[in-house]
Formats: sequence, structure tokens, C-alpha cells
Amino acid sequence: MTGIEGRQWSGRSWQLGGDKPAGLLDRLQTMLELLPGVGPKSAERIAHHLLAAPTEEVLELAEALRAVKERLRRCAVCCAPTEEERCGICQDGRRDGSVICVVEQPRDLSAFERMGTFRGLYHVLHGRLAPLEGVGPDRLTIDGLVARARGGDVREVILATNPTLEGDGTALYIAGLVAHLGLRITRLARGLPAGSVLEFANSQMLADALEGRNTF
Ligand SMILES: [Zn+2]
Repeated sequence: MTGIEGRQWSGRSWQLGGDKPAGLLDRLQTMLELLPGVGPKSAERIAHHLLAAPTEEVLELAEALRAVKERLRRCAVCCAPTEEERCGICQDGRRDGSVICVVEQPRDLSAFERMGTFRGLYHVLHGRLAPLEGVGPDRLTIDGLVARARGGDVREVILATNPTLEGDGTALYIAGLVAHLGLRITRLARGLPAGSVLEFANSQMLADALEGRNTF
């Protein structure tokens, strides 16, 4: 069976050529297994659930997946996903534009927003520096952050990258770039367990870490 972009299903992956046709259910299960945290058993369970679910419900899921990829883009200011030129947070006049909280991923921004007490703006890097994986500064949105920091309205940059080796390295790199601007540069306090990631922290843990942040 010819599948995505003319590739064919063979064993556990889509390949060019190959002569073993796969069932549609196998194909679905394999696509599901690409999702984080979904192993073969979960993929099989989800695939059979979708097979049994009402058609409208499954098509709505398919449409939601399509819409996310086709309609979401990066906010022109903070790089968070948005359907508009600027995201809702950047458009919100009640937010404090003098404080920028720098996070690795949109899901980290969501974690801060769930906490509900941070009133500043964000900057989403879309990753962290990882030299061993070939992820350099040009792959992140650091240029945009530096431009914002230079803009004049910013008084504080909170480096809220994950408390990991690479997160720390990324924070250090950014701090070096904006050090000469005379801003307050802070890093989240070590209320968070070393080696963990922000998205799994509970709201109180995150609130404590934000409250106890130190000058970096
Ligand atoms: Zn924004």
C-alpha cells in the first residue's frame, strides 16, 4: 500500500519501495507510536478506540491535528504559538512588558500561566543549546530575545530554562549576550529538582522557584 508521500509501509517504518502492504490499522498504530509516552501497547489500544469511536468524533480529532499544523504560527514578539500576528499575552495591555520570562518550550509557558501569578511577558526559545546534537544559537529564537531586551522597555530578563546542564548552559549564553544592557538578569531558584523539567513541576513548586529567583 502506498502511503505518505508515496512511501510504502515496510515492517516498522515508511520506506521507499518495499512490497509488503500494511493494514490501515498498523499504519495508524505506527503513527501513534511516534507520540511521546506512547508505546506499542498504548498505540494499539488508542487505535482500536478510534476504530470503535463515532466517525464525527474521530474526524474532529483529525481536523484538530490539521488545524494545529496549518493555522498556528509563532507570535511575532514572543514566538509562542498563536493564530494571529501576536499572541494573546503579548496583546494584553495589563501584562508588565518590563519583565521577560525566557522559557525553552511553549509547554513551559503554559506551566507558568497555570500558576497564574506571573504578569510579565515571555520569550519562547523553542529549544535549548545542545552542542552535541548540533543545536546552536541560530536554531533558537535568541536573536529576537536580544532585540527585545535592547528595546528599552525591558528591566528584567528571567532565565527560566530548565535546571539541566543544557538549560543552564543556554541561560549562561543568553546572560552573556544581554549583560552589557544594564538589565536585571535572574535565574529561577533551585526549588526545582535538578535534572527535572518545568512541565512536570506542580504549581506550588514553580511558584516557589519563581519567588526565590536569584540574580544570575
Ligand atoms: Zn507573544
